[in-house]
Amino acid sequence: MCDCCIAEGRDHKMRCGDGAKVRSARLYKIYVGRTASVNLCRLCDIQLFKSGESRFLECNIQFAQNLFSSKAATSDGLFD
Ligand SMILES: [Zn+2]
Repeated sequence: MCDCCIAEGRDHKMRCGDGAKVRSARLYKIYVGRTASVNLCRLCDIQLFKSGESRFLECNIQFAQNLFSSKAATSDGLFD
């Protein structure tokens, strides 16, 4: 499942079709000195590629906020 679509409440299957593959992507601007690993569907991946990380996060505020708030909860494992 796409982390971004889940956070934004979008219907992942509607957008990408059944069994759509997600790709792991890295975000560099969420945390200082650390990268965040996220799973993105094809559409989100394209949006991230086309608009860049800053604009992508602006367009997906809830997703960005989830990443921010999960920083405290998971200090290891998910992030490197
Ligand atoms: Zn997505």
